[in-house]
Amino acid sequence: MPKIILETIEELSKWRNHHNDDINFVPTMGDLHSGHEKLIQSAKNSYFGSTLVSIFVNPLQFNNKEDLKSYPPKSIKDHEIAFQSGADVIFIPREEELLDKNCQDLNFIRASKELNSTLCGLNRIGHFDGVCTVVYRLLKLVQPQLLFLGEKDWQQLLIIKNMLKEMKLNIKIKSIPTQRDQDGIPYSSRNKLLKTKDREKLIFFSQKLNEAKNTFLKEDRLDLVELTKEIEGKNINIEYLKVVDAFSLKEAIPSEKISMLAGAIKCGNTRLIDHVFLMKTQPIIAIDGPAGSGKSTVTKVLAKKLKLLYLDTGAMYRALSWFLINENIDYSNNDQLKKSLKGLSIVFKTDVNSNQDILINDICVTKLIRTQEINSIVSKIASIPAVREFLVNEQRQIGASGGLVAEGRDIGTKVFPNATLKIYLTASIDERAKRRKLELEDNEYGSIELSIIKEQIKQRDQNDMNRSHSPLIKAKDAILIESDGLSVEKIVENIIDIYNEKIPQELQTE
Ligand code: C5P
Repeated sequence: MPKIILETIEELSKWRNHHNDDINFVPTMGDLHSGHEKLIQSAKNSYFGSTLVSIFVNPLQFNNKEDLKSYPPKSIKDHEIAFQSGADVIFIPREEELLDKNCQDLNFIRASKELNSTLCGLNRIGHFDGVCTVVYRLLKLVQPQLLFLGEKDWQQLLIIKNMLKEMKLNIKIKSIPTQRDQDGIPYSSRNKLLKTKDREKLIFFSQKLNEAKNTFLKEDRLDLVELTKEIEGKNINIEYLKVVDAFSLKEAIPSEKISMLAGAIKCGNTRLIDHVFLMKTQPIIAIDGPAGSGKSTVTKVLAKKLKLLYLDTGAMYRALSWFLINENIDYSNNDQLKKSLKGLSIVFKTDVNSNQDILINDICVTKLIRTQEINSIVSKIASIPAVREFLVNEQRQIGASGGLVAEGRDIGTKVFPNATLKIYLTASIDERAKRRKLELEDNEYGSIELSIIKEQIKQRDQNDMNRSHSPLIKAKDAILIESDGLSVEKIVENIIDIYNEKIPQELQTE
């Protein structure tokens, strides 16, 4: 595809009219650096469609005229960098045209009050309104499917996300982690303006944020007063230094939720920002739902894509059922049952291809637990309180440091009630029976009549949903996905989109 440079709105509209595939849009203010390169590369390499980079120094977002004057000017070098990084099209509108006050399509947008009334919004009055106004204008012209933004400007990212929702624009945001130079400071066009001694101050500031994060992770403490003292001790002028909730941006004490230690400093005449995210335990995704809802397939793919551990708790109930039957244990006798559970080991082993085996007391039972015999008895055994207590305890141990996707019936309600994301996956009984039949045939368990499978599933639903101990119900804060007619890829994509809303990319790639 030839490299295209569009300089007017008319040229852009013409190109857009003849161009039907998806647009991945990377808005920039020029003076492209490695952070922009990564953003453009990510737009180009990870998604279908064309990558369009806009270069426009937005005067509306400079509340300080001196700041605008000193902002690095546009240069031809930007075009080279954009194309080399993967841009197909560059849009470089002129200010007179893009922000023509007589133009009816120019809407002045106000940034969300809540998100704007903290951090950078407090000192840079009108800054985020200016950002929203220009980004909205560009989005209306470019009409992209995906919008690429850097997490370096996290508050801006949240404000734009909120604007997309409010203005009902059906555009997905894809973000990339803050890109840093070798000395640890975040790439920014403003770094060029720094004298050596000012750069050293910024290096110190970024290092201190990072150290504070590590102390928090190791020792569960963060002393803002001490940190402020240390930074000010280096003659660094702090505009703000706060711990806030990473999504509401309200001041917070770092806790189970994801928070952010964020600061702005003045180095010479240049104002610079940096932040670190604070997350104590790795995320947990809980996927609950009835038999045949597609949980296993979805959970496996999801775990692989998000590089999380996969925990199939149903397999644990099945393995335990197999064990009790195989050992002839009278599980209706509570004492006998409890004795048999003492010291019992259930272990998952995963190979390089992410295939998982389950071993009970060192016996591999992966295949043995998928028989009709186990299907018909497992939910009865799973309703015994001592069995549940034992397995829930094992599951919590496996998930103690997080970083996993767990599927089952009570993950979001009982096993991990504080899970980062809870999904309740279901489908109609007909659809579920069809899926189970195919699964059994694919795994060479023979062809079983659909009506028999349907009856078994109904029976299992009945048992799982009505038992007195941790019955299968949708957790209040779980997101319902009805999977009839949806492909596995589509379901996984939906879940990843929701996950990305909850976890910054930076924390996903650490
Ligand atoms: O998911 P799967 O069909 O393998 O689960 C087998 C059975 O194990 C379920 O029907 C249910 O009775 C039980 N189970 C449970 N709690 C879980 C997972 C499975 O009760 N968390």
